[in-house]
Amino acid sequence: MNRPILLVSGGEACATYLLALGDRLRSAGFPVEPATPADAVDIVRGKAQAGEAPELVLIDAATGHVGVLARMLRAACASAHLMFVCRDAQISSLRLELQRTPMIGAYWSIGAVGDPALERLIREAVHGTRRRLKLRTTLDKANSLLQAPRPADGLAYRRLLMSEHYLESFLSQSSDAIVALDHRSTILYSNASAAALFAMEGAAMPGLHASALPCWTPGFAQYLDQVAGGARFQSAEFDCDIGGRTLPIEIVFSRVADETGSFLGTTLVVRDITTRRIAQNRLIAHQADLEQLVTERTEALRATEVALRQSQKLEAIGKLTGGVAHDFNNILQVIASNLEMLQAESRDNPLTLSRLQKAIASVDRGAKLSSQLLSFARRQPLQPVPTNLGRIVRDMDDLLRRALGESIDVETIVGGGLWITMVDRNQLENVILNMAINARDAMQSEGRLTIELGNAMLDDAYVDALADVPAGQYVLLAISDTGSGMTSETMERVFEPFFTTKPEGEGTGLGLSMVYGFVKQSGGHIRIYSEVGHGTTFKIYLPRVHANEALIDDVRRAPVSGGSETVLVVEDDLTLQGTVVEMLNGLGYKTLKASDGESALTILNSGLHIDLLFTDVVMPGKVKSTELARQAKLIQPGIEILFTSGYTQNAIVHGGRLDPGVELISKPYRRDDLARKIGHLLANKRQAATLQRVLEGKPVLSVEAHAAPARRILVVEDNPDALDMLCELLRMLGQDVHGASSGEQAIRLLATETFHVLLTDVGLPGMSGIDLAIQARHSQPALKVIFASGYGAIDELDFETASLPKPYDLADLQRVLEIGERPT
Ligand code: ADP
Ligand code: MG
Repeated sequence: MNRPILLVSGGEACATYLLALGDRLRSAGFPVEPATPADAVDIVRGKAQAGEAPELVLIDAATGHVGVLARMLRAACASAHLMFVCRDAQISSLRLELQRTPMIGAYWSIGAVGDPALERLIREAVHGTRRRLKLRTTLDKANSLLQAPRPADGLAYRRLLMSEHYLESFLSQSSDAIVALDHRSTILYSNASAAALFAMEGAAMPGLHASALPCWTPGFAQYLDQVAGGARFQSAEFDCDIGGRTLPIEIVFSRVADETGSFLGTTLVVRDITTRRIAQNRLIAHQADLEQLVTERTEALRATEVALRQSQKLEAIGKLTGGVAHDFNNILQVIASNLEMLQAESRDNPLTLSRLQKAIASVDRGAKLSSQLLSFARRQPLQPVPTNLGRIVRDMDDLLRRALGESIDVETIVGGGLWITMVDRNQLENVILNMAINARDAMQSEGRLTIELGNAMLDDAYVDALADVPAGQYVLLAISDTGSGMTSETMERVFEPFFTTKPEGEGTGLGLSMVYGFVKQSGGHIRIYSEVGHGTTFKIYLPRVHANEALIDDVRRAPVSGGSETVLVVEDDLTLQGTVVEMLNGLGYKTLKASDGESALTILNSGLHIDLLFTDVVMPGKVKSTELARQAKLIQPGIEILFTSGYTQNAIVHGGRLDPGVELISKPYRRDDLARKIGHLLANKRQAATLQRVLEGKPVLSVEAHAAPARRILVVEDNPDALDMLCELLRMLGQDVHGASSGEQAIRLLATETFHVLLTDVGLPGMSGIDLAIQARHSQPALKVIFASGYGAIDELDFETASLPKPYDLADLQRVLEIGERPT
């Protein structure tokens, strides 16, 4: 039963438009009655009193005095919606005026002339009024049911109206969806949020049964029954399907009853709990993550503890073995030196010679044992150089095949672009050989040994569980066999010195100890994967260095020669001291001896000329060997110094590596090794002396006339005296000379300056002279290279070089400079 819409017009501006609008509404089924501003109020009052108040009054705003009209219309009818229609331009001033008008309530709005949405807004306003009226009717019914006496005076009545009005606007503006059901579960009222949540048309909801709601389920019906049966309220969560998406909602069912307690109906307060669900799910997921994290951390901690305990155990054993090996080496040194001297004296007695040979072989084996012990204790002085492991492994191919026999296949896989790592090459060869021999033993007669090399990253997650390995870039050396494999008990103990599962006499239990010590000392990491009956893989990770591979000239190949210089031998083990002195005398050297630092200093201070100080690292007494070396340099600046030790201490070796420029020979050493080392040091010194004599004689003026034209020459020489003198000499020959004491320093100079000639020593600490030349030619292709060397000509390079054999004199120098001048 539609009530008429009252159309109030009279002004000129909007009248035509409104009349047309009225026609349209009429044809849409709304009864429209016209009125003028003069009679509108009376008409509305009359209809309201007759119980037929209009649902909507449309007012042409151009009639003027809208505020007054609005107030009078509202006084005549509390429920009708008042809609003022004006032109766009007037909307804001009209709104301001209406907002300031008192007592017109909340149910008014402004429509714009020509707005296509206007008809829809009119419909909504009509429906709004209907909804309010329905609620009002329910409240009236409730009032009459309660037989409440009508409010006696006007003030109380107005209060009632006001509170009703507040309640109404509270419900309709609530963000919660609210639905009121009567005792038969028919919808009495629903607010705008409910229509939005359930995607239903709000106006169509009243009168429907609750089962039309999308949240209707048998469970929902049960809750309604419980509330009808007396429960005060229930609250429950549902998943309902609205327009194809499943929405989680929460509904609070509240019972409405009259004062006698009989059931009137149920209100539903419905909330979309998607956000809460998401938060809950996240919380659950986080809790699971957290638990997972705690488990992982606990596991990692346990693993770290195990690793730590293992490395502490090995550390303790290492201290013990290191001490034993040190003493053992001193003894071996005495035996070896005496055997070698005996050998020299028994040249014409073949039987004695062969016995001596056997004894020497045994000393060698002993030396190998103690060197493995030292490796394990990380006391082996390493001489690491930038190395491509691929080359080492390829060079060992032949050796490995011979060691493993024909029935074992050897396969080598080298990954492309292999990084460079810093290792002591001799020790690394021993490591590979040791592991290959273990693999052979594990495979008994046949199988396959695979050696793989590749680049590897150890990430934070991996190294977290390890005691002492930093994350970063490594070169991986993996050695796998198809042998017997190991039990986990064996695996835990393989690195312990003397642990072996091999029969008496076959295993020493030192191979893997040495491997372990070497890897640790080189800053690396080792890991075993093994399964009984299937085989074993050892993975060794060695840290990457950013350097070019060093090509080293092998001093081991240099011929042995003696000399006539004076050597001061400082050694507290008197037997050993005697042997060394005898050995040096045999090589032609003059010797002086001291058994501690103080007496050595006395000799140095006595004014006796000494060319070389040969001292043990560890000595009793106040004067430490490093201090002795420092004083010796002060007293006799030209002196050469060579250290020796059964093992080396931090005084000389930092982190197991030699300080640059420190010369050291490890015990036990052979006569030849000592002779070469001393020979090399003294050759440098002799060269410096020769140059000094040339300078002192100053025959320079005579040669200056036919000296080569001035060029920029870079001289590289690690002996500072030799470097100074060579530079000065070349300068007197009219050359522009720059000196460097190492290959690295020379490279830095070459990066910023251009030179004509590079004159370099071959045996330099760190980068060798040959490497330097290759790199220098790379950056300055026109550079002439001259090698000064005690080892003869260098002919392995693919560019022309000249050589200046040591010792050289001025004439040699001039000659070689002229070669340097020759165009290539
Ligand atoms: P040795 O070879 O003298 O026994 P090692 O330290 O080299 O000493 O090895 C210790 C033990 O580790 C061996 O006795 C053996 O039980 C085990 N082992 C080492 N390498 C392998 C391997 N490739 N396969 C199986 N077991 C091995
Ligand atoms: Mg072994």
